[in-house]
Amino acid sequence: MKWRGGYAGAILHVDLTTRTYHTEPLPEELTTRFLGGAGINAALALKLLQPGADPFAPDNCAIFGLGPLVGTMVPGAGKGNLTTRSPYGRFLGISGHGRFGALKYAGYDHLVVTGRAERPTVISVADDRVSFLDATELWGQDVFETTDKIWAQLGDRTDVTCIGPAGENRVYDAALITNKYAAFARAGMGAVLGSKNCKAIAVYGTGGVRVADRKRFLKASRSLFDLLRSDRNLLEWRRLGTLISLETFAEMGLYAKKNFQSAYDGGLLESFGVEEFAGQIKEGDVACMGCPVGCKHHVRVPGADGSEIRMAVSCMNAVMQSFGTFCALESWPEVVRCADQAARMGLDFMSTGSLISFAMELYQRELLTPEDTDGLHLEWGDGEVIREMIRRIATRQGFGERLAQGLERAAQQLGPKTAPYAMQTKGLGVLYDPRVRLGSTEIFSQFTNVRGYISNVSVAMVERTPEQIRRYCEKIGLDPETIGRIVSADGYDVGRLNKWTEDVCSAMELLGVCMFPPFQRLPLELWAEACSAATGIETRADDLLRVAENLWHARRTYNIREGAEAVDDTCPERFFSESVPAGSKSFEPLSKPAFQGLVRSYYAERGWNEVTGEPPAAVLRELGLLEAAQRP
Ligand code: SF4
Repeated sequence: MKWRGGYAGAILHVDLTTRTYHTEPLPEELTTRFLGGAGINAALALKLLQPGADPFAPDNCAIFGLGPLVGTMVPGAGKGNLTTRSPYGRFLGISGHGRFGALKYAGYDHLVVTGRAERPTVISVADDRVSFLDATELWGQDVFETTDKIWAQLGDRTDVTCIGPAGENRVYDAALITNKYAAFARAGMGAVLGSKNCKAIAVYGTGGVRVADRKRFLKASRSLFDLLRSDRNLLEWRRLGTLISLETFAEMGLYAKKNFQSAYDGGLLESFGVEEFAGQIKEGDVACMGCPVGCKHHVRVPGADGSEIRMAVSCMNAVMQSFGTFCALESWPEVVRCADQAARMGLDFMSTGSLISFAMELYQRELLTPEDTDGLHLEWGDGEVIREMIRRIATRQGFGERLAQGLERAAQQLGPKTAPYAMQTKGLGVLYDPRVRLGSTEIFSQFTNVRGYISNVSVAMVERTPEQIRRYCEKIGLDPETIGRIVSADGYDVGRLNKWTEDVCSAMELLGVCMFPPFQRLPLELWAEACSAATGIETRADDLLRVAENLWHARRTYNIREGAEAVDDTCPERFFSESVPAGSKSFEPLSKPAFQGLVRSYYAERGWNEVTGEPPAAVLRELGLLEAAQRP
């Protein structure tokens, strides 16, 4: 097919074993069923990844993908997706960020990296030239040093995505970090690249992205810009980023303390004030590719040794939770110092914070002693100890080795008494406490989605009336019968609602657009109009929801094929057995039967088997996935 616009029209395959590459035309049937980016990645993963194979074997593929709007002038259209066989076994490895779009300018919608290089290697993609650069001298260097050295060699207009020592050592929570701040985090993305001896991927593109109907596209883009500019919270989003809701969330009790033993209330703001952050810690805005919002931050704090730390941070809310509230470390400068250490080592912030808070609780309960931890005293709120643990996890040194395979395996190694304190689902640390607010789809979906926590931002994060949820459902175009299943006179079914908020987020994800509220508040129909104008393929809002649905069928099919079961869609037992105090409030444990009922509602709304969560064979046949769905 000759693509009229939006798509570059090509998949670049790179084999590190043979140091060869080739391109393949983007198959039209994949765009019809899965639109692009994360959707086509999921379909390729089912086809290319052998069932039950070793995630660190050379034949694993790291599949990068960009949706049809990436690289166009549509606001926020810079999001890329990485899909791979994760070290977390039967759960598909998926991750995304907003700084991989240069691949589109180089002429590709997708990049598939396979094989294993004999020596440490940098893959360099510069338009249609692919080269394999020796990275022997970069091996062992941290993410910041590596990025600077590649920029010195290839120029700082090249986007550098690299691993640090954690990825080299195949640490399960290793990330892959672009331009020092945008992380393909969680699910061991960095470990997979490390297993391939791939230190970095450097991308430079000089081409543009064509659009099929220029006039129509400009009109749609202008409408999106105008609506975005009229958002009264836009400047606050730029100033505070994901901290915009910090005060509200703190008052709600959403910030877990000491590995979910308790929760902070509004008192948290005495240590983590938003004005203190904006006035004393933040020194500038950072944006993803093509984003006029720029909700990320340049920050500056004194280093522990008197030096100065300056870095860019994508999600400050996650940094504050991971190294701050989870570990009871209550100071902006201290958590930034921890983030600097983790970014240099190439570790995912959230997962690493979960691991260290788990170890600290074991220490508190005397399930670990200094003898087990090589003499480290894992006391709550000790920034020095947290930074030392980050270093030891990344290098698998001493006790760090015990934590290097993620929470679930760490608990298996440390003994059955430790398992109740591993606050994980599908191996990944939980971010928000469902005892505090199960009615949020962002919180509920931590347990039902295919990977463990994935951002599923929706209106339901804070308390909503049934009427407000009904209006949301109408806004995204749901019919009265569907709304009737979700909303009743006295409440709503978060399991069923979750299906639809996931689909809305994924529709944006497939286009390659940011799913944060300033963008999600814009009408889906207008995003569909931009897609139609860019690609020349008529697309409506319900088409976007349909391809999003297909994405979840494909992802779930992968997990089922690899042995995942309904029993994996659950909470840590602590949430069913203990209440959680948050200042003067206390939240009751969840009812397990009620929670399981919500999971079944979610499956039913997706059209999956209510008991097993399996997508029906007829749907898989229609999507061309039936053969790839077969178990070994
Ligand atoms: S709003 Fe923030 S996360 Fe979204 S594209 Fe812009 S800078 Fe990136």
